[in-house]
Amino acid sequence: AKENGRGCASVFERYMHEAVQDRRNIEMDLRSALKRNELELYYQPLVNIETNESIGYEALLRWHHPEKGMIMPDVFIPVAEDTGLIVQLGEWVVRSALYEVAKWPEHLSVAVNLSPAQMRSPNLMPTIINALAATGVAPHRLELEITESVLMNDNQSNVELLHKIRSLGVRIALDDFGTGYSSLNYLRSFPFDKIKIDRCFVDEVDSREDCRAIIRAVTGLASSLGMVTTAEGVERSDQLSQLKEEGCVQVQGYLFSKAVPANNIKGRAEPTGNI
Ligand code: C2E
Ligand code: CA
Ligand code: CA
Ligand code: CA
Repeated sequence: AKENGRGCASVFERYMHEAVQDRRNIEMDLRSALKRNELELYYQPLVNIETNESIGYEALLRWHHPEKGMIMPDVFIPVAEDTGLIVQLGEWVVRSALYEVAKWPEHLSVAVNLSPAQMRSPNLMPTIINALAATGVAPHRLELEITESVLMNDNQSNVELLHKIRSLGVRIALDDFGTGYSSLNYLRSFPFDKIKIDRCFVDEVDSREDCRAIIRAVTGLASSLGMVTTAEGVERSDQLSQLKEEGCVQVQGYLFSKAVPANNIKGRAEPTGNI
């Protein structure tokens, strides 16, 4: 049994070592990814539930790794957050998304994900202001998605920062709603423009009454607070009809489209080459 235990431990240690090594590799490669132009934003449509038309797109990072192929954000965003690289990366995302939306028809907006670490960076406001000015994009066409964790620690300064950003005309959405703690308190401490209902509630909305009841409660709450609701991860038309019935305003999910490269976006102006 002793031998066995040691054997297990060494397999475990080797596994841990590999995991740590993997993270280090990702970290090192990520540092050069920006310079080498390996990052790309894909775009997933946000759809008006009544008209089925796209009202905008969420920008989602993809990393074209020279050896490993495409790496998804769930793998490298946590590393970028732990190492602080997310600040630089996030600034690149804001700028790229705004240069992109400048090529779209006026009625389309872009949503960008913000990490907690970006909120602590003094560069966030200047980055947003400069990118809006450089591209001439109307501020209301930019929506920033934040999660509850941003409001959790150091509540007051983040609330103030969000107010400043919002006073530019930029919209703020609460992402992954329902997956964190004491969500209702956040709705009181900051006036969001939008609540994005997490996929876990949407998953079974067509088969479970409790999921339906939660969605109904959230859409009711949101609309009485003057906020829009977006349901994330809609994959089936049965989900869509339930969400419509429960008063959801917007939907997003594979039923409409996965995130796609920018040149797939309808009505996008071809680059003129003099940007
Ligand atoms: P998120 O912000 O909750 O984004 C939604 C994720 O759900 C995306 O995964 C999207 O592709 C996926 N998804 C959309 N529709 C469906 C569906 O119908 N079914 C299923 N199963 N999944 C769907 P993705 O692109 O892998 O992004 C994962 C997470 O990475 C994002 O979650 C976000 O938290 C983070 N992320 C992505 N890009 C950025 C970025 O530029 N900055 C920051 N800070 N985080 C980012
Ligand atoms: Ca998001
Ligand atoms: Ca989300
Ligand atoms: Ca998420």
